[in-house]
Formats: sequence, structure tokens, C-alpha cells
Amino acid sequence: MKLVDAHIHLSDVKYAKCADELVAEAKNSSVVALVSNSMDFETSIGSLKLAEKFPGTVYPALGIHPWNVNVLKENELEETLKLISEQHLKNAVAAIGEIGLDYKYETIWEKQMMVFDRMLRLAEKLDLPAIIHSRGTTAQIVDMLPSYNLKRVLLHWFSHPMGALYKAVDYGYFITEGPPAAYSNGIRHVVKKVPLTNLLTETDGPVTYYKPPFNGKLTRPAFIPTVVEAVAEVKNMAVADVADQIARNFETFFNIKLN
Ligand SMILES: [Zn+2]
Repeated sequence: MKLVDAHIHLSDVKYAKCADELVAEAKNSSVVALVSNSMDFETSIGSLKLAEKFPGTVYPALGIHPWNVNVLKENELEETLKLISEQHLKNAVAAIGEIGLDYKYETIWEKQMMVFDRMLRLAEKLDLPAIIHSRGTTAQIVDMLPSYNLKRVLLHWFSHPMGALYKAVDYGYFITEGPPAAYSNGIRHVVKKVPLTNLLTETDGPVTYYKPPFNGKLTRPAFIPTVVEAVAEVKNMAVADVADQIARNFETFFNIKLN
């Protein structure tokens, strides 16, 4: 069985001292691929370094998260865009992410929109997958994406509204779900409704999950088997069949052959 963590922040400072341990533990838990999402220029560099250190296991997604838009350094946007283009020439970039819009930061809404637009245009130009954060903005984002020529879109931690889910599935987009699939009725409803062919698994670590069975422990890729079991339970399918389909989805979406 090959499991995947399609959305983790392995270059986050909270993982600085334990990345080796987490990657080793992931492998022992059959989690064979981790997509290290980035928040800004610095964590993008961190994701690239981790991918170099763990080739064939850690894949970098580079970008600027909407939460970081208000603290960007001078030229940070341009430098991050340049980094993505340069690394893409070396075939070293798995995706552009994590990018998006967050309603909580509407005070600098225009800047969020500008950064998101620049990142989406680069994803379009380089034909890279886009990994999208859409808290409170999912319907709006799903409506704006067709104006870009994006072949691969992943809406991470999709929660609502269901109308946007059905549209996203129609457009061929993917969603990721993580630990809340084990305890949240809302997320379990999404898991039930999304075709398995459009679903990937994530931890979004180091985001912490306080509900059982996670109980506030450090989020790690080794949580993925629990997520897959939850999906299998909701879908009333065998765990191995769910895992196989999700592994195929990963290969299709990222154009990466799993080891
Ligand atoms: Zn994230």
C-alpha cells in the first residue's frame, strides 16, 4: 500500500528539528510521498532543500500564502516567482502552493488578490499544479479559476459550500482532506460526496488537531493511515482500495510516479 501526504508544511520551523524522524516514520507508515507546501520565499527555499535531502519522497510546492501577503519583504514576491521559474527549469518544482485567498485578511484584500493572480498566472505559464487555500472564499475562487488556463487545481481542506464542490469536480479539480475526516461531520459529508477520483489525503501539519484520536499531538505524516481509514469508512470501501485510488490520483495530479 502506498499512502500520500499531499499537503504538509515540512519546512515549517516547528519541524526544523524532527524532519528526518518524520520522514523515516512516514516511510514506516507506508506514506511514500510528502508534498512540502511553502508560505513565503524562505519556506520555499526550505521545501527545495528538503526535497533535495529526501529525493523521491519529499516534493516541493513553492509559493506565497495569503497569510504572508501583509508581511512580504521588498521584492519577495518577485524573488519567489523567479525562484519558481528557475527551479522549474530544473524540473524541481512539484506545484505552486500554498496560494489563495482568506476572508480573515480582507483588510489587505487587494494585495491578496494581486499575489494570488501572479501565482496563478505563473502556474498557467509553467503548467504547474496550483494548491489553493480558500478559507471563506471557496465559491469565489471556484468561479474565478476558469478565467485562467489551469489544468491542475487542488482545493486543500475543502469544507464548504457543497455547490462549489460539485462545480470543482465538474472542472476536474482535486480536493484534499486530512485528520478532520476522522471526527468532523462536515468534512465526512464532503468525503462522502466527492468522487474518490478527485480526492487526495493531507495532514496540513504542523496544524494541530485537538480532537481524538489526535489529541493535540504534533501533526505528522504518520497520521495519514488514520485519514485513509476514515475515508474508507465513509465511502464504505476497503482501505487498500481507497489507498490505491488515492495513490493513482497523486500520480495523475502531480505527474509523479510514486516509489
Ligand atoms: Zn497548508
